[in-house]
Amino acid sequence: MKNLIKKYAAKALCTLWIDSIFRSLNKKKLLVLTYHGVCLPERCPPLFTQLPVHLFREQLSFIKRHYQVISVDDLVVSLREKKKLPERSVLLTFDDGFMNNYKVAFPLLKEFNLPAVIYLTTDYIGTDQHLWFDELFLSLKAALENHVDLESIEDLFSFSNLPNDLAELYPLLSNKLKRKTLKERLHLISKLKSKSSSTEDPMQENFNLLTWEQVKEMHASKLIHFGVHTATHRIISELDKEEWHEEIAAPKERLSEMLNCEVATFCYPNGIPDLDFNESHEQYLIEKGYICSFSTAESLNDANYKPFRIGRVSVGNDLTSEKNFFRLQTSGFFYALKSVFSKINNPKRKQREIQPEEI
Ligand SMILES: [Zn+2]
Repeated sequence: MKNLIKKYAAKALCTLWIDSIFRSLNKKKLLVLTYHGVCLPERCPPLFTQLPVHLFREQLSFIKRHYQVISVDDLVVSLREKKKLPERSVLLTFDDGFMNNYKVAFPLLKEFNLPAVIYLTTDYIGTDQHLWFDELFLSLKAALENHVDLESIEDLFSFSNLPNDLAELYPLLSNKLKRKTLKERLHLISKLKSKSSSTEDPMQENFNLLTWEQVKEMHASKLIHFGVHTATHRIISELDKEEWHEEIAAPKERLSEMLNCEVATFCYPNGIPDLDFNESHEQYLIEKGYICSFSTAESLNDANYKPFRIGRVSVGNDLTSEKNFFRLQTSGFFYALKSVFSKINNPKRKQREIQPEEI
């Protein structure tokens, strides 16, 4: 119901050209879109990270008409040479390195002739392993289908009133588990699996990750670039300093070697500034030769953006892909609205902003 109201409100605002006005007001800001998987509708899991292909096509068509799509190399050159980007610049990014980026998204990017960058979890590329959160989704789905009593499984599941709906249950548990150790997560996943019958799920193929041959073929097209999303998708603020090399520096070397080119950009797993990474990680990225990195802070990037905290707009299989909502969100309208509300609700901050030493 709430979503239906938002949908109609977005339609009304777009009828009044609000998206168009904000696109024009924000034309000097860099828009970076975050995608993950792009899937065929008949096998699409009900997950934010798997976008049905017809919605992706609709978005590419809109972007092509209203924006100047740049490559990540264009961004790197603009940072190195301190050059301005063209007006209405947009960069398309894909996180994690799903095989459906090659099978489903790449043919469309070729058709539209639009560049994109894929952030690889390098140790998983060319293996038959899935990322832990996708394994969690599959094992929860199987557990619900097999009527497993989740609350009886493990201490972690002991909180009451677990929802029976996968769309609610999965985000709840994945958010809880992402702050646990990998060993704890895998232990829980294997417990879940042991309680369900082991039939192969047709949705499973959406979680397969790219092979190196597919990575190399896309790289050779010159349309798709690649960057580092760590070796094993660990949140880097949770790493010991001794582990930084293997998760941040080593994947850069490996990817450069595999593609025989420089790799200069990084994308933080989970990516919340000052929670999932901080200034010490940014400093390490600089020391290791990275030129910029992408966060999950939801924002457009104005002329003074920080290269190691680039904000992005996440697009997935929910309201963010509804036609009018997508247009408003990418125009920067919601961020402007948020900033007005936070100023009204936080007058102290307003006062702080006009301190003389800051003028
Ligand atoms: Zn990721």
